[in-house]
Amino acid sequence: MKRYTYPFLLLSLLGLVACKQSEPSPAYAIAIHGGAGTILKEDMSPELENAYRLSLDSALTIGEAVLKNGGSALDAVEQTILFLEDSPLFNAGKGAVLTYEGFAELDASIMDGATQNAGAVGGVRTLRNPIRGARAVMEQSPHVFLSGPGADQFGAEKGLDTVANSYFYTPRRMEEWKETHPDTTPAYLGTVGCVALDQKGNLAAGTSTGGMSDKRYNRIGDSPVIGAGTYADNATCAVSCTGHGEFFIRYAVAHDLSSRIAYLQEDVQTAADHIIKKSLLEKGGSGGLIALDRKGRVAMPFNTPGMYRGYAKPGERYVGIYMEE
Ligand code: ASP
Repeated sequence: MKRYTYPFLLLSLLGLVACKQSEPSPAYAIAIHGGAGTILKEDMSPELENAYRLSLDSALTIGEAVLKNGGSALDAVEQTILFLEDSPLFNAGKGAVLTYEGFAELDASIMDGATQNAGAVGGVRTLRNPIRGARAVMEQSPHVFLSGPGADQFGAEKGLDTVANSYFYTPRRMEEWKETHPDTTPAYLGTVGCVALDQKGNLAAGTSTGGMSDKRYNRIGDSPVIGAGTYADNATCAVSCTGHGEFFIRYAVAHDLSSRIAYLQEDVQTAADHIIKKSLLEKGGSGGLIALDRKGRVAMPFNTPGMYRGYAKPGERYVGIYMEE
C-alpha cells in the first residue's frame, strides 16, 4: 500500500499548484461601451463628463442586477442597451445622430453565444428601442437581419413600442445637424454596446447605434452586421464594436476576434489589442471594442483618444472615458 502514497501526494500537490495558477472565473461579468472617438477632456465640461460617468455606471448597475439574480446574459445585454438607448447622451435610440435628410435611422443587433442565434434591424425609424427589435427578429422570426420600413412593421406587429421619428431628436443633435449639414464629413460617436457572461457560463453581445451623422442612401454600418459589429460564441468570446463602420465590416472585426481566440489560442486581450491597435489601425480604421471571454476576462482596446466604457464583476467596477485611465 505504501508505494502508492508518494505518487498520490505528488498528484495532489500538482493539482493544488494547477488550481492556484488557473485564474478563478467570476460568477458573472459585464462590459459596456458608449462609443469611441475624439473624446478629449479639454472639450468636455465637468457636468457633461459627470453625466456620462453616471450613465455608464447606472447601465452597469442595471446589467449587473440581472446577472446577480441569475438572469441570462441575453437579458442583461438587452436591459443594459435599453437604458443606454433611452439616454439622450448616446448615439443610439433617443439622441441618435440625424441623417442627411434629418431623420433618425437606427441599427441594432444581438447575439446569443450559447446557440449562436442572432437578430438585427437596420435603418429603423419608429421602433423606440431597436435592441428589442433585434431580439424579436432573433426569437420571433426565421431571419437574422431585417431592414427599413419592413423592420419597423415587424417590430410593431410583435407589439414593440413605436414612436414618431421626432421622439429621437434632441436639441444637441438638431443643433449639430443645422451647424454641419450638408458640408461635413460624416462623424460617429456614441454608439452603445454590451457584452455579458451569466452564471450559467453563457455569453451574449449586443450593439445599438444611430450610425454616422449625415449618412445618406440608407447607409447601414457595422453595428447590426453579425460578425462585423457584434459577435458571441460561448467557445470564444462576446464582442461589441464601435468606430468607423465601413472598416469593421470590411475586416469582419468581431468575428476576427473570435477566430484569433479559436485558431491562434490567443487570450482575449492579446487578440483584441492586435486587431484594434495594429491591424485595423494600419488599414486606417478608427474605433474600439469591448469583449469578454468565457472566463469573464475583459478587453476594451481603442485606437481613438477616448472611448466611453466600463465593466463590472462581483466586487469590481470600472468606468473610463479617456485613454489614460
Ligand atoms: N460603428 C457605427 C457605424 O459605423 C458608428 C459608431 O460606432 O459610433 O455606424
